[in-house]
Amino acid sequence: MLTNDQLALWDRENFFHPSTHLAQHARGETTTRIMRGGDGVYIEDRDGTRFLDAFAGLYCVNVGYGRPEIAEAIAAQAKELAYYHAYVGHGTEVSITLAKMILDRAPSNMSKVYFGLGGSDANETNVKLVWYYNNVLGRPEKKKIISRWRGYHGSGLMTGSLTGLELFHKAFDLPLPQVIHTEAPYYYRRPKAEMTEADFTAHCVAELETLIDREGADTIAAFIGEPVLGTGGIVPPPAGYWEAIQTVLRRHDILLIADEVVTGFGRLGSMFGSDHYGIEADIITIAKGLTSAYAPLSGSIVSDRVWKVLEQGTDALGPIGHGWTYSAHPIGAAAGVANLRLIDELGLVSNAGDVGGYLNRTMREALADHPNVGEVRGEGMLCAVEFVEDRDTRRPFDPARKLVPQMAATLLAQDRVIARAMPQGDILGFAPPLCLTREEADKVVEATVRAVEATLS
Ligand code: PLP
Repeated sequence: MLTNDQLALWDRENFFHPSTHLAQHARGETTTRIMRGGDGVYIEDRDGTRFLDAFAGLYCVNVGYGRPEIAEAIAAQAKELAYYHAYVGHGTEVSITLAKMILDRAPSNMSKVYFGLGGSDANETNVKLVWYYNNVLGRPEKKKIISRWRGYHGSGLMTGSLTGLELFHKAFDLPLPQVIHTEAPYYYRRPKAEMTEADFTAHCVAELETLIDREGADTIAAFIGEPVLGTGGIVPPPAGYWEAIQTVLRRHDILLIADEVVTGFGRLGSMFGSDHYGIEADIITIAKGLTSAYAPLSGSIVSDRVWKVLEQGTDALGPIGHGWTYSAHPIGAAAGVANLRLIDELGLVSNAGDVGGYLNRTMREALADHPNVGEVRGEGMLCAVEFVEDRDTRRPFDPARKLVPQMAATLLAQDRVIARAMPQGDILGFAPPLCLTREEADKVVEATVRAVEATLS
C-alpha cells in the first residue's frame, strides 16, 4: 500500500484540484486528505479517522455513505450493460424507468427529462433550450437570462456567468453579456435595517422590475433561481418572495428555471423546493440528490409548455442538435433508480423536514444570542450560521482574518465534524445527509458551539 506521504507528493505533482488555492497546495501548505470509506453520515480517511460529514460531500450524498443497495445496482448494471447511448431514440430499461420515476415525483406541469452528468451541464442545457424555444417562437431577440447575485448555477462558461459570486467570475472574463444579475433575496443583508420581510420582498420585486424595464422584456428569455440560495450562503427567501417574483415573470412572459440541484429530492423536507415554495417552473434542474452522488447524473425536467415548442421546433428544423455522449448513462441511471427507491423506503424526505427542523432549532437556541452571531437560518436539512463583528450594524469581520475557514478547521480538528466555510461572507454552512438522526444533530450543534468558542475567545 502507498504511504500517505507518497500519495500527497503525487497529488501535488499531478493533480489539478477544483476550487483550490493552486499555489498553496503545490507548495504543500494545504492538507491533502485522502478519503477511503464511509457509512451513513460518517466518512473515513486513509488512517481510519472518522468524520461526521455535516455537508454530505457537496450537499449531495443525501442517502448517506456506503449504501449497498446503490452499489449493487451499479454493479449489476455494469455487468449487464455498462453503456449504450441515448441518441436517436435509444435507451436502456434503467434510463427509461428513471425518467418515469422522476416525472412521478415532479410537479404536475412537468413533461420530460433530458439527462446530463452534473448540475453545470444541466444548466447549460437549460439555457440552450430556452434560446431554442424563443427562436422557434420567432422571438430571436428574447435571449438574456436573469440570475441573482449570490446564486450558484455551476462553473461553466454560461453557468459560471449565471453564478453570482465574484470568485467564479474574477479573471475568467465572466459573466458573458447575455447574463444580467438582480438583487439576492438575502433578508439579513437588506439595504435598510428597518425593512420588514414583506418590505424586502417588495424591494427585490422592484429591483427586478427596474432591470426588466431597463433591458426590455422582449430581450429577456428566462429567470433562474435556487428555491433556497445554496453556495451563496444558505439563505431561505423572505416571505412571499417566490409568489411575487412569479407574478412579474408571468406578466413579462419570462420563463422560470428552478435550479433544484441542491433542493431536489428531499433536502427541504419536500420532494422538490418548487412544491415547498409554490414555484411553478418551466424547467427544473436536478443533479446531486438524484443519485446521492453514487454516480454522476443530472437532468433538466421540462414542462409541457416548453416541450410542445421543442416538438414544434424539430418538426420545422429536424432533430435537436444537443446531446452528450453520456446522456442517460446506464450506470448513473441505475444509481438513480436505486437511490430514489431508498429515499422512499427510508422516509428520508420527511426525516429531512423533521431532523432538519430540529437541527435548525437547536443550532438557533445554542448560538443565536452569541455576540458575534448575526443570524442562524435554514430550511429542512440546510442550516447556516452567519458571523459578524458587530451585531447592531451587521458589520462583517475583516476578510483577512479568515474567521470561518478557521472555525471549520477547528470543528474538524476538535470534534471531527465537517461543515463548510461558504465562499462569500462569514458563513458556516451545514447540509448533512438526509438520514441524519437527532443524536447526530446534537453532536453537530455541540461541536459547533465548541468551535465557535475556541475561535472567537
Ligand atoms: N446548481 C446548484 C444550485 C448547485 O449548488 C451546483 C453545485 O453545487 C450546481 C448547479 C452545479 O453542479 P455541478 O457542480 O454538478 O456542475
